[in-house]
Amino acid sequence: MAEKMEFEFDNPSKDLGSFAMPFLESEEHMEELDGEKKPLVTSGGSPSGSSSPQSPLETRRYTFPSNPNKHSKKRWHSGPSAQTSSLPGKVMYTSPQPRTAGNSPQALGLERLKLKDYQKEPERRTPRKNLQRQFSEGENFTMGFHPRCYSESYVKIKEAEEMTFVRFMKNHKCYEIIPTSAKLVVFDVQLRVKKAFFALVYNGVRAAPLWDSEKQDFVGMLTITDFICILQNYYKSPLVKMDELEEHKIATWRDVLSKKARPLVWIDPDASLFEAVRMLIQSKIHRLPIVDPVTGNVIYILTHKRILKFLGLLKNELSSPTFLKRSLQDLGIGTYTNIATAKRDTPLIKALQIFVERRVSALPVIDDNNKIIDIYAKFDVINLAAEKTYNNLDITIQQALQFRQTYFEGVHTCQATEKLETIMEKIIRAEVHRLVVVDSENHVVGVVSLSDLLTFLVLRPAGVTSRKSSINSPDNEK
Ligand code: ADP
Ligand code: ADP
Ligand code: AMP
Repeated sequence: MAEKMEFEFDNPSKDLGSFAMPFLESEEHMEELDGEKKPLVTSGGSPSGSSSPQSPLETRRYTFPSNPNKHSKKRWHSGPSAQTSSLPGKVMYTSPQPRTAGNSPQALGLERLKLKDYQKEPERRTPRKNLQRQFSEGENFTMGFHPRCYSESYVKIKEAEEMTFVRFMKNHKCYEIIPTSAKLVVFDVQLRVKKAFFALVYNGVRAAPLWDSEKQDFVGMLTITDFICILQNYYKSPLVKMDELEEHKIATWRDVLSKKARPLVWIDPDASLFEAVRMLIQSKIHRLPIVDPVTGNVIYILTHKRILKFLGLLKNELSSPTFLKRSLQDLGIGTYTNIATAKRDTPLIKALQIFVERRVSALPVIDDNNKIIDIYAKFDVINLAAEKTYNNLDITIQQALQFRQTYFEGVHTCQATEKLETIMEKIIRAEVHRLVVVDSENHVVGVVSLSDLLTFLVLRPAGVTSRKSSINSPDNEK
């Protein structure tokens, strides 16, 4: 039986400081925003309004398995000594004395061991030659001096290395990744879509879970992609007002989407990060709410960025696999064909159409020579709501980029010849969802996104395919 440690959180506001207390957007919780109701901001702390289904977290008990290293150490020291233990291999190979009555297998208690208890032969000592041998990249391992021995150990090392990030993700749980303080905004489906997108801007968040008070349940998510779909669906010309955007409630929009409106895909805080990566990538989403199973509250929204950042923070926990020293092109990470791009004079409505049809999250902006000059990401579309300029989508990308709210320090790029470890450091530091891959003259040759990296590091070695046949069939659907 594995040793277990129990933590009881009696005072959720104190002990669960890391769990952001969420907030339900509802009519009572609205203030005036430009003459309209607006949602209140919540950032940690307890939710205002006792009628909220996001009531303060109740006392709950988490049971963690203890640190396996600590556990095995303890057992080793307090357990029987090697000589008398039931580790026959150890006794036999560390005892060079000739066999006497005193150290016969019977006297050592080995008669209790049956032949079938030996699952496999005790491992042979690695030949000295192989110990000194360093495996270099791309080495043909069948060419070693002892081909059989050499290839076996090589394959073992490679297999163990391949699984480095799989093991890491399987050993860490979603609750470990929740920051000390985070903002969460929830929308009632009765809220009008226009107001909802203003609320995203106003609160500086990228997405919100949707609450249906009739069903008393979370029914989906609202993201910037939804804003893009609405604009792309209803835009006609700068002269025609999009009545649907003005009047539709979130529920009406979801009815219009009909079968395309997805139920909430969510994850349990006790699930592993491996599971979270699998769900994010297979469901082709960028926002995965962590739902507390006890209260049913959404407690955090997990993203690829957060997972990569966590990996970056804890990288010292990991041995550094040799494939991190190999280049992107060697490993085949990223997309290098049919790159969706835009030019400065591309009409914004055309860019939105590409986002919807190609399902890409950003368009490198190029000049006439295919050289990178800027980037237009789905995230930048929310600025149209901030600036209330969504009524004219005939503007160019260049004009749209002028609405960017944050300081733009240039496009974060990389080259296909750069090492994977350099790419990971760059993308984590830049805090962007992708790097544009360029050649030595800044021509765009590809895109490497966080989903490409996580697919390569985590899903591929575990034998999980990155694409599910049906987009609407993730495991955790509400
Ligand atoms: P963005 O990149 O703009 O944040 P996503 O790629 O995550 O958007 O969303 C794509 C579509 O999937 C949107 O219609 C969004 O509402 C939906 N969606 C995103 N996350 C979830 C989720 N956890 N559960 C259900 N639907 C989701
Ligand atoms: P999200 O956090 O929603 O995944 P993104 O990382 O796609 O958002 O974009 C956030 C901001 O960073 C946007 O303003 C976008 O234009 C900018 N951005 C995205 N990718 C890059 C990049 N490779 N280089 C420079 N800026 C980028
Ligand atoms: P993302 O949605 O950014 O996580 O990316 C999903 C997939 O689309 C990844 O394999 C990316 O490499 C690829 N991708 C992202 N942006 C583009 C683009 N502009 N053109 C072509 N592929 C892209």
